[in-house]
Amino acid sequence: MEDCIFCKIIAGDIPSQKVYEDEYVLAFRDVNPVCAFHVLVVPKIHICCANKITEENSLYVAKIFEAIAKITKAEGIAEDGYRVINNCGTHGGQTVKHLHFHILGGEQLPMNIL
Ligand code: AMP
Ligand code: ZN
Repeated sequence: MEDCIFCKIIAGDIPSQKVYEDEYVLAFRDVNPVCAFHVLVVPKIHICCANKITEENSLYVAKIFEAIAKITKAEGIAEDGYRVINNCGTHGGQTVKHLHFHILGGEQLPMNIL
């Protein structure tokens, strides 16, 4: 997707602070972290949002969650725990229209947000 910022990051046209990469998945630090550890995990194909996950592309979602387990272990936050968030669409507050999962952690997170 030409005008997708995360596709540009995947292509290497926009720099990112990469923390993990494999055939299916790229993970990089959020440019505007909301807590001590804030990483985004994205599929290496353009899927606009959770509404567009299908039988044909759901392997990417499985690979994202495999990557989350690896990243959190490697970064030393797995044992204390973390939160994974996907924002979908307008009501969900999605600002970048390329499917992504936020990994939030590195400190005690507030209990009053989902
Ligand atoms: P969402 O509101 O779920 O769509 O989240 C989009 C996230 O992408 C926000 O937390 C932004 O801070 C983050 N973001 C936007 N542009 C970049 C970028 N170039 N590199 C890293 N994170 C970004
Ligand atoms: Zn994209």
